[in-house]
Amino acid sequence: MSSQKPYDIPFNRSSLVGKEQEYISEAMRIGQIAGDQSFTKKCHGLLENELKVSRALLTTSCTHAIEMAALLLDIKDGDEVIVPDFTFVSTINAFVLRGAKPVFIDIRPDTLNLDETKLKRLISSRTRAIVPVHYAGVGCEMDSILATARNAGVAVVEDNAHGLFGKYKGQYLGTFGCMATQSFHETKNFTCGEGGALLINDQKFVERAEIIREKGTNRSRFFRGQVDKYSWVDIGSSYIMSDVLAAFLFGQLEKWKEIQAKRRAIWSLYESELTEWSNEHGVRRPVIPPHCEQAYHMYYLLMPNLQARTALIDHLKSKSILSVFHYLPLHLSVMGQKYGGKEGDCPVCQDVSDRLLRLPYYNELNEDKQMRVIEAIRGFRP
Ligand SMILES: *Cc1c(COP(=O)(O)O)cnc(C)c1O
Repeated sequence: MSSQKPYDIPFNRSSLVGKEQEYISEAMRIGQIAGDQSFTKKCHGLLENELKVSRALLTTSCTHAIEMAALLLDIKDGDEVIVPDFTFVSTINAFVLRGAKPVFIDIRPDTLNLDETKLKRLISSRTRAIVPVHYAGVGCEMDSILATARNAGVAVVEDNAHGLFGKYKGQYLGTFGCMATQSFHETKNFTCGEGGALLINDQKFVERAEIIREKGTNRSRFFRGQVDKYSWVDIGSSYIMSDVLAAFLFGQLEKWKEIQAKRRAIWSLYESELTEWSNEHGVRRPVIPPHCEQAYHMYYLLMPNLQARTALIDHLKSKSILSVFHYLPLHLSVMGQKYGGKEGDCPVCQDVSDRLLRLPYYNELNEDKQMRVIEAIRGFRP
């Protein structure tokens, strides 16, 4: 989504929020910048203590954390994995890499999360996992999803890239499935440029997760003194984040309450200042069910149609403001069609994908700039 042309108000922009630079210097002073050094451990501790998960493991990306989940679940050729049609490619590609067949589920018209009422009829004897994505950091209907999964004997892995510190019925997102994944890509609430984490709720996956993340070796046990040499014990890959990035990330994560408060203020200003305009022009604003505490990942508008969206993007561009659309329906992508996806399979997703527009949203967006975006939108007639 990056653009060569510099906008006065970009869609996204990373910024320092605390001691990131100091911590990077500290990591260099210590002189150990491979993975699992002091700052990685600090990030693990923070995530484990705040979220109360059995284990948090930093990874090189959310994509890689999902790949780890697929390896841990022993996904094989012919297994089926159910995934919302409206998500990023990695949510499913990580499973397809292991030979899984994607099964796309349509989304709810309100939260744009997977439509749990359609789950049962998509489950077959080959289904191995359901991967809910908490779109925009608003919780999926986890009670229903978990009940369906339990009945069918199917794993739930939450792709929580948008949802860190959001809650569903008072419980943190990322703590419902047997595993969950986080992203620290520059477009997310907390970042180190590129990075991710695997959250493990089911204790039985912890030991093997450490091995898979360490190239298939029992190196973690070696470092803890549990074995006297380490060797190749399983399949695996190199999923460990450098401590330089972990130092940056810790500078952000330890300020998580401040960051979320700032993002909440941005969300609330869009919401209050665009209510009247959107009601007058048939534009829908985000729906946050009362039992969900959202993670303030994005603010979007659902325009009446594709033409209106294109026109608003152009209108904002003419004022040097970048707004962007989001996911294309996975079932109609080149790969999705190879797996049998066809027009009409997921009508809600197809419709939403054409009309959704994301507004500039980043930690450093100040009120003056945000009011410029709001005024520009109010000056537009769909
Ligand atoms: C950003 C994102 C990812 C991928 O994250 P990376 O850290 O870039 O691999 C996966 N799923 C969703 C829903 C995302 O938004």
